[in-house]
Amino acid sequence: MIKAIIFDIDNTLYDYDSANAKAIDALKQYTSTNFGWSSDETDTRIRAAYSRIQNEIGVKAAIHNRLIRYQRILETNGLPLYPHALDMYDLYWSTLIDSAKVFEGVDSALAQLKKEGYVVGAGTNMTSVIQFRKLTKFNLLKYFDFIVTSEEADCEKPDKELFLKCAIKAGYDPSFCLYIGDSLIHDILASEEAGFQALWFHPSKAQLSQESSFKADHNEYIFTGDGLHPQFSDYTQLLSIIETLSSAPQKEDEQ
Ligand SMILES: [Mg+2]
Repeated sequence: MIKAIIFDIDNTLYDYDSANAKAIDALKQYTSTNFGWSSDETDTRIRAAYSRIQNEIGVKAAIHNRLIRYQRILETNGLPLYPHALDMYDLYWSTLIDSAKVFEGVDSALAQLKKEGYVVGAGTNMTSVIQFRKLTKFNLLKYFDFIVTSEEADCEKPDKELFLKCAIKAGYDPSFCLYIGDSLIHDILASEEAGFQALWFHPSKAQLSQESSFKADHNEYIFTGDGLHPQFSDYTQLLSIIETLSSAPQKEDEQ
């Protein structure tokens, strides 16, 4: 029985990859105009700042805070923080959020889930202010009963602690919670580890298996696991898939 549905946000509710590409282009335009940097120089400096911050503070929500990233780029290159730090931050996020396309059928699927009485939440790696800005701009925040960001949870997916915090907010044992996300590592295997049921979203339409070699989380992973995970690529099918999963016997029942 499924009582709560918890969503990843990026690349699950909207197409992050294409919106991020547009935002990076806008940022490169800015660094070209203001600092005379080439596209490659900007890429290199962003990567270097990200690595430095990650080495210093580890994997936590602050590594997603692009204000810190751009601030560090300016500081290490002897450039003035004013007005560039906040201008770069605002340019990146306003471009990304304004150009982001919500996947077809998301709005009506969320409305239907609420109508059917499910608790609806989001569990996501990112700073809270940005995820609230996205869901507000997409006009989807009204459907969510709760959000857990890694900033709030003080841990990052795939840490199962973030999922357990979602279950607490949902008010149900993890076995009554379904997590939906696009990353096999950070969403599907991690939420299953926390005791959730999991449903893998990938808009490519192809059926993916753990035996597949595929691009996930910016790295190439090859799995030798045990076949297909529940998955979907079309939000118009979400309700019927959830009903099927909800009525299927749990693993404990099968033993
Ligand atoms: Mg994602």
